[in-house]
Amino acid sequence: MSNHRQQAIEAIANTEYDLNQIDFKSKPLKELFGELVFNEDVQKARLPKPVFKALQKTIKQGVDLDPTIADAVASAMKDWALEHGATHYTHLFQPMTGLTAEKHDSFLSPTGTGSALAEFSGKELVKGEPDASSFPSGGIRATFEARGYTGWDPTSPAYLRETPNGATLVIPTVFVSWTGEALDKKTPLLKSMEALSSQALRILRLFGNEDAKKVFTTVGPEQEYFLIDKNFLFGRPDLLNCGRTLFGAKPPKGQELEDQYFGTIPERVIACMADCEAEMFKLGIPVKTRHNEVAPSQYEIAPIFEDSNLATDHNQLCMDVMRRTAEKYGLVCLLHEKPFAGINGSGKHNNWSMATDLGENLLNPGDNPHDNAQFLVFCVAVIRAVAKYPELLRVSVASAGNDHRLGANEAPPAIISIFLGDQLQDVMDQLERSDLKSTKQGGFMEVGVSVLPKLPRDAGDRNRTSPFAFTGNKFEFRAVGSSFSISGPNVVLNTIVAESLDYIATQLEVATGAGKPLNKAIQDLLPGILKESKKVVFNGDGYSAEWHKEAERRGLPNLKSTTDAIPVIVRKDTVELFSKYKVYSERELQSRYAIFSEKYVKEVTIEANMMVHMAKTMILPAALRYQAEVATAVNAAKAAGVDAGAQFDALKGLTAVIGRFQAATADLEKAGHHEGNGDPYHHAKYIKDAVIPRMADLRVLGDELETVVADDLWPLPTYREMLFIK
Ligand code: ADP
Ligand code: MG
Repeated sequence: MSNHRQQAIEAIANTEYDLNQIDFKSKPLKELFGELVFNEDVQKARLPKPVFKALQKTIKQGVDLDPTIADAVASAMKDWALEHGATHYTHLFQPMTGLTAEKHDSFLSPTGTGSALAEFSGKELVKGEPDASSFPSGGIRATFEARGYTGWDPTSPAYLRETPNGATLVIPTVFVSWTGEALDKKTPLLKSMEALSSQALRILRLFGNEDAKKVFTTVGPEQEYFLIDKNFLFGRPDLLNCGRTLFGAKPPKGQELEDQYFGTIPERVIACMADCEAEMFKLGIPVKTRHNEVAPSQYEIAPIFEDSNLATDHNQLCMDVMRRTAEKYGLVCLLHEKPFAGINGSGKHNNWSMATDLGENLLNPGDNPHDNAQFLVFCVAVIRAVAKYPELLRVSVASAGNDHRLGANEAPPAIISIFLGDQLQDVMDQLERSDLKSTKQGGFMEVGVSVLPKLPRDAGDRNRTSPFAFTGNKFEFRAVGSSFSISGPNVVLNTIVAESLDYIATQLEVATGAGKPLNKAIQDLLPGILKESKKVVFNGDGYSAEWHKEAERRGLPNLKSTTDAIPVIVRKDTVELFSKYKVYSERELQSRYAIFSEKYVKEVTIEANMMVHMAKTMILPAALRYQAEVATAVNAAKAAGVDAGAQFDALKGLTAVIGRFQAATADLEKAGHHEGNGDPYHHAKYIKDAVIPRMADLRVLGDELETVVADDLWPLPTYREMLFIK
């Protein structure tokens, strides 16, 4: 008789995987790119010229969509999709679950005379009405007025999703309630991009730039994830249902040898990665980089940056492709922030900048940032924004899953600070002293091997411990969780920077309006802003205990857990900020406050229930079987007349741990049976204070049992197996 765990290992040992599923020789990468996307080239080839031009203006310059072109676009999309084997279309939207949602409709309509016609009108392209009463709305919709509408987002191109028996035309959409409130993650993102664009353009106009018509925020999200053999999943109900292990003793070997980071990628994993990349290329996702990460079985994938709306859609799609493709190789892709305790968790580095529609990166310092006044203005605006609204950035990355990472010496602390690096720090110091003269140059690095070329040195070193780092020509927000939609963090970033740009533009407009030359106005304004904001700048080790003390001294907020952060969403200054830039109304913020609280309660409650279930039905039975074995051995030894003192002590010790384990199980079970009083935040606080500590207690005891119970009786795949059997 063997258990799940033994069956899993046997299955892995006996399976041959087909690793060569893609042939890049017969179909080169270049040809794959965008194959499934109704992109600019396809639009140009298939749309009447005026329609194409109007659509491109909307996409590239944010001009309002001309509603009369919808029919022509719909008809071209339909023909293109049908030629590519599509049978259905869907409005894809991003409800507050953080996932994507879709309902498929067939292109076919019966003619009434026995046959059917493929139809797709502009009306169907522009608007949909899924029955969406079951998505979280945080009180915005009662079920009796459950109407939610999807609306076409022409700035994110439609694409085809190929599935085993056919293909579906996927149309990215926003999702709003009957009363016009956003029920999704795309609507506020688009609004925040517009807010930033209008404020950034004011600054550009001051610098005499009349050509730029729109400023986009750009994002390149680096995505971390784990891949483990799928057979293990069936023996781990916690991984299967919660995405993370709730029990599991620390393995003898973890990540301490540092032999994994950038190491050679295992064959099956690289086959899977290549397949994912081919899929993503077809979908027009510009994936670029892949490598091993720090923890065993942990990896990273990164695309080339795009505008934030597209980058967000593509990151959602990327996670979806990875999950589905992993299965083809007998793997499972874990996107949870902390699938395994004791080794690194997974995050998402949100590389962020601003660029004009003509392609100018506004955070590019050039060779001499000190005389690049425009760069300084934009950069100082970001610093001011982070200094003024650190708690909003913090709450944008808050979740039960991410609580396991932030502040745990593997991910940035929960204290939001900015790393500028030597060069920029030096420029900012000079600027603050109103004494801008020089820029530290990077120079060259001596590699010490004469046959190698000299490498130009980056003027700024890396700092992995900072949550918000300037990395040459962009800022990198590193606290985002791996399973997150990047929408939330970018909505915050765009809005707080828009507010800063607004402030700066207003000051500069007043000064120049009164006849002050622009450069003088800038030199008069920025030092004061820097003085006020510099408390948030920290170039040292963000993991260190000294920094926690120093941050406290500086008065920087340290919102340690999700429940500490959630109230920020409905604070007066938050409501004022988001209402002013028309990104969220107060009601929308109230709904997010409720949804985040509920999500936290639900996630942790499911975990607690799962722990109790595993404790009672898997761990306790294994421990009792082993206890019986030991007891039998003690009795047998006694009967044989030998001294069984040590075995008796072992039995006593084991029995004591089992007893404590049972008590802790009962305790957690009782704590979990809590009925909220209807206030979701109140409930979340209860969960944080009463349930989470009991989960931690139970885990310690369960993990202790794992280290004493006979290996052949232990039912759960262990860390040493899940992380190292590849
Ligand atoms: P690393 O941070 O590992 O050195 P890179 O700097 O090359 O790697 O880029 C990391 C990510 O940042 C990539 O997704 C890249 O496309 C993105 N990135 C680069 N420039 C920008 C930019 N101007 N705006 C947003 N993201 C950017
Ligand atoms: Mg990076």
